[in-house]
Amino acid sequence: MSLSTLPSKPENDSRNGAHLSDADLFDAFYSAYRRSGASTHKLFEAAASSYAVAELLIARGIIGLEELDERRRMVEERLMQSFEQAGLTIELEHSAPDKYKLGDRVVEIDCQSRLEICKAVCCKLVFPLSRQDIEERVVQWELTRPYVIRKHTNGYCVHSDNENHLCTIYTQRPAVCRGYDCRRDTRIWKDFDNCIINPDIELPDWPSPQSEKGDSMKLVKEKVEPVEDTG
Ligand code: SF4
Repeated sequence: MSLSTLPSKPENDSRNGAHLSDADLFDAFYSAYRRSGASTHKLFEAAASSYAVAELLIARGIIGLEELDERRRMVEERLMQSFEQAGLTIELEHSAPDKYKLGDRVVEIDCQSRLEICKAVCCKLVFPLSRQDIEERVVQWELTRPYVIRKHTNGYCVHSDNENHLCTIYTQRPAVCRGYDCRRDTRIWKDFDNCIINPDIELPDWPSPQSEKGDSMKLVKEKVEPVEDTG
């Protein structure tokens, strides 16, 4: 993200302002158990029904096994889409590159000179973390929406310093933060070169849930292509 060019606070202060309360943990476990219980119940019902139907159809010679497998794959794709829309899937950036090997794909922008105008709203964008981020256990994610970057109630990332919007985990920030280029994001800049901001950034629901799901992530992915594994 553009703030990646700003100096960071000391590493041992990385969780400043991002303390997990008992209520946070309760919400997380409650959400996880609720999801898990509902999923198990539905899974059992669906499995019993589908096995029964399949066995009947095969036994009566109406369908073959291959035909059944092919149709099952089609239905799986369709179901996955509806699960995603219902927020029942785990969001993980599977194609994320190694964030420490981005080289010249790290975007360099003079954020400091524009902070008064843009208010660092790029750190309000929503995106899923990578397996590397999760395993590192530094970048925090929403406990009730794994593994999406965790936010303060004001919409900013919990790793954005409340006073000056500096990134408090600068050296470990996600790949998307390193490769994000606000200059091409019209939700933020109407005209980057002439410092004309999009007034919509002042709206309380910016970025809209619609753009959270689509545009912001795509924009980030566009910039940060997976790194070839050269061994
Ligand atoms: S980790 Fe958070 S504060 Fe740091 S650059 Fe990314 S979005 Fe901004």
